[in-house]
Amino acid sequence: MKIVDLLTDRGIHLSCEVFPPKEFARVEEAREVVRGIAALAPAYVSVTYGAAGKTPQFTRELSQTVQASGVPALAHLTCINDNVSKIGQVLNDLETVGVTNVLALRGDIPEGETFPAGDHFEHAAQLVRYVKDRGGFCVGAACYPEGHPEAPSRAADLDYLKAKVDAGVDFLTTQMFFDNATLYNFMFRALRAGVRVPIGAGVMPVVNAKQIKRIAALSGATLPSRFRSIVDRFGEDPASMRQAGVAYATEQIIDLIANGVTNIHLYTMNRVDVAQDVFHNLGAILGR
Ligand code: FAD
Repeated sequence: MKIVDLLTDRGIHLSCEVFPPKEFARVEEAREVVRGIAALAPAYVSVTYGAAGKTPQFTRELSQTVQASGVPALAHLTCINDNVSKIGQVLNDLETVGVTNVLALRGDIPEGETFPAGDHFEHAAQLVRYVKDRGGFCVGAACYPEGHPEAPSRAADLDYLKAKVDAGVDFLTTQMFFDNATLYNFMFRALRAGVRVPIGAGVMPVVNAKQIKRIAALSGATLPSRFRSIVDRFGEDPASMRQAGVAYATEQIIDLIANGVTNIHLYTMNRVDVAQDVFHNLGAILGR
């Protein structure tokens, strides 16, 4: 199933992200995570492309596990570390096992490294164009409600996003955000810039204080004071922080749905228990 068809039908779609392990010994454990998440019947499950593009086989294998559980899979694919022929091979391998949705990304440039020269795509838009020209795949891409950290301005980032969409993007997924006003503002600006594809809003339940440092480092997402108060009060108390984090994400999603956002993507961080709680909290709202 093409994910874009799913995202444009009526109804509310709650999807999930999982990540693959770094080493083979932990693949079975990751499969268990995938099965646990798939059992929640999300709209689809996305599987990240890990460790600087070194483990595409794990992304493929977990995507297969997702689909064997009866849920569409979205395999992430980055281009910063791979040449075009490797990307072609990864796509062939995905197609062979029946995975036909990809999230086309540039990938993060490792600190201190310059962009590799030669047979590489420099931006995700080029990867999007390549995959669309090849054919056979529904192609998603990333977007950043607060602007990508490297972009000179939010306006420039939006121009580049429009160019990426024009290269053939079928749908977008946002970076995580913790203040819904940021998302509403972004959706308005994106629409005004001519971005017409479905946008899935990325929500991450923050259930321990350690995740916060990681969020700040990776996404640069602004943490609203309401969120900071929760961390200040409960950050040192794991059980309370978990409960408050699930409640915060649940509230965020309810507000998004109440304001007409129909596609929401949950960054599960491979926490089946947390995803279960969020889905449970939204049961009636999701029509279950
Ligand atoms: P791009 O769209 O190429 O944008 C990157 C930067 O380049 C932006 O600042 C943009 O404004 C700028 N830019 C774009 N086009 C041009 C141009 N023509 N000229 C000049 N500047 C330009 N990383 C992983 O390694 N694995 C994953 O699985 C993964 N999954 C992700 C999923 C989501 C939903 C998101 C939001 C991010 C994910 N990432 C993942 C992180 C992502 O790889 C990084 O955020 C990366 O830094 C940018 O990727 P991109 O595809 O958005 O790049």
